[in-house]
Amino acid sequence: MVTQYKNLINGEMVETGGWMDVVNPANEEVIGQVPACGADDLDRAVAAARAAFKTWKNTSHEERQAACMAISGAIKENAEELFRLLTSEQGKPHAQAKGEIYGAAGISAAQSTLKLEDVISEDSDARLSRTRRVPVGVVGGIVPWNFPLMMAIQKIVPALMSGCTIVLKPSPFTPLTTLRVAELIADKVPAGTVNIITGEDALGPMITSHPDIDKITFTGSTATGKKIMEGASSDLKRITLELGGNDASIVLPDADPKKVAEQLFWSSFQNAGQVCIAAKRVYIHEDIYDDLSAAIAEYAANVKVGDGSEQGTGVGPIQNKKQYERVLELIEDAKDNGYKFLTGGDKDPSGTGYYVPITILDNPPEDARIVAEEQFGPVMPLMKFSTEDEVIERANNSEYGLAGAVWTADTDKGVEIAEKLETGTVWVNEFMHLSPFAPFGGHKQSGFGAEYGLDGMKEFTYPQVITVKKDNVVA
Ligand code: NAD
Repeated sequence: MVTQYKNLINGEMVETGGWMDVVNPANEEVIGQVPACGADDLDRAVAAARAAFKTWKNTSHEERQAACMAISGAIKENAEELFRLLTSEQGKPHAQAKGEIYGAAGISAAQSTLKLEDVISEDSDARLSRTRRVPVGVVGGIVPWNFPLMMAIQKIVPALMSGCTIVLKPSPFTPLTTLRVAELIADKVPAGTVNIITGEDALGPMITSHPDIDKITFTGSTATGKKIMEGASSDLKRITLELGGNDASIVLPDADPKKVAEQLFWSSFQNAGQVCIAAKRVYIHEDIYDDLSAAIAEYAANVKVGDGSEQGTGVGPIQNKKQYERVLELIEDAKDNGYKFLTGGDKDPSGTGYYVPITILDNPPEDARIVAEEQFGPVMPLMKFSTEDEVIERANNSEYGLAGAVWTADTDKGVEIAEKLETGTVWVNEFMHLSPFAPFGGHKQSGFGAEYGLDGMKEFTYPQVITVKKDNVVA
């Protein structure tokens, strides 16, 4: 009998009607079951969040901070159990799962210090005008499967800190760690402030269109993001969308191939490439292309692909079958078109587990599907460029605009190029670093609004301007 993980509604861990299986992508075995919620369960969770909002919206910064610190503490104290559970449902190697668990605890603590202060816009002889931020109300949070706990936390914590309550839906592929955290925090946050319910994808549109939810905060694909925007339009819900990316990394000729190869490798292959801000197109200057591509291939040869719970694994399986088949299809397409592989492209389809070999392509054309589309798998196309203007144009030639990176010995030059990239985040000689205090959001079709920092928190609030005439003519 597999373990059954309950939902958190109104401070209680509850069962609903049916159950859904959760599969370990490393061996395709069922490792847990979670409730398959329908409209009635959602109504119950929303009603609890609405009732809790009446009190929670009036709490002080300190009370909110105490709740978020309790969440942080619960995650940290149970990190060992949680990272093992995360690897078993998501597939990422233990070291990376540990990073996500401690990262989620750290983000909770860091964001619990955020406070939206009132702003005085006019203090004249005539009047005092003050802008305060008031919570929007009940938030619907919808989360993907690549960083399940981190994404859940980065929605729950700013919601609570801004005075909102939340109903959160994990991905049906990776709900276990989040539900275990739900159990750990059930008696640590006031009943109804945080509700976590699970269901198939069909539960998503029910959340988006629920008349008693005031805001949607969503992380996932651009295709789903567009549906959410449409669904939320019926009653003009506020929305924050963190969507897909096809991030470009640009390596200038002054970068030392030996020093940059390992970092570039992990900027693409962290979490088996299933990271919205992974480097998915790598542009290398022609002067160092041969040396650097050889150094990356050499590094890749020593990285083990396998079950994330095994010692030494660097790249785990793809999280689910649908995504696994999509990545294999992109690799097949590259093979059919005769593109050159430095490594990979040779999947044995007979084994169990959704494993894709580390796949590095040697200078495929810009319009290859494996370059132009978000692969979201352990795939790294390396492309040659000649001039700065050319590479900036190629990097920006995408419907996405999430993040990017420039690698160079000349950091001023790196910043100059960074400023020309049409993305929400750009790193110079770094990758994937996100600050809990800086806005993270996509340009173009990579998102709408931002998370993190005070900018992210503002999205859980409305501005309210109170203007008082100093000459009180009615007294
Ligand atoms: P997805 O869009 O398929 O699913 C995300 C969530 O939306 C899941 O919980 C799913 O059940 C739910 N959902 C599905 N259909 C829905 C609908 N019609 N209405 C409402 N909710 C619905 O995405 P995924 O495959 O889980 O995640 C991978 C994608 O997420 C990639 O494109 C990746 O780039 C993106 N992503 C973006 C960020 C970011 O911060 N920008 C972070 C991580 C992942």
